[in-house]
Amino acid sequence: MALQRLNRIRDAITTIPDFPKPGIYFKDIFPILGNPEVFSELNEIIYEASKSMPQVECVVGLESRGFLFGPILAQKLKVPFVPIRKKGKLPGEVVSQTFELEYGTDCFEIQRGSVTKGQKVLIIDDLLATGGTMKAASDLVTKVGADVVLCLCIIELLGLKGAKSLDKPFKSLIAFD
Ligand code: AMP
Repeated sequence: MALQRLNRIRDAITTIPDFPKPGIYFKDIFPILGNPEVFSELNEIIYEASKSMPQVECVVGLESRGFLFGPILAQKLKVPFVPIRKKGKLPGEVVSQTFELEYGTDCFEIQRGSVTKGQKVLIIDDLLATGGTMKAASDLVTKVGADVVLCLCIIELLGLKGAKSLDKPFKSLIAFD
């Protein structure tokens, strides 16, 4: 039954070769949102996966597709949602974390005080590839003193072994080779 539910979601994900550049097989999750039943089912599965973690006190979502699922999960768990965004997008005082990309570097920011010291945080994003994005987010949340209890992605690209780069608990719902 659980597998059947996940397969409906897997079937809705499309793969676009050579986007945004040659050699990348882009996993498009927007068709899920185009089907209200499938989207609702996925949000329920995300909630169930999160409920099995004790005491999530805050959901942090990563720009940009983590914003599609994070606020819904936070509402279901009845906890706050907090965004992590790319440099220069969040107003007020921020804390930053630079991270390596395939070519060059990028920078994530979180608003100071948006998560509190010792708060148990779940971080959500759509997809784990090399793991660099999730690791940077986890480092940033740790830097501001919160406790990352789960890094959650809907999709994991197993071939890139991104989960190995994470030093916090990690869960994915749908894996592709
Ligand atoms: P990474 O840091 O390599 O784990 O990349 C993960 C981030 O890049 C996520 O925020 C994804 O949205 C995006 N991403 C990386 N590879 C893909 C892909 N093949 N399809 C869709 N999104 C991707």
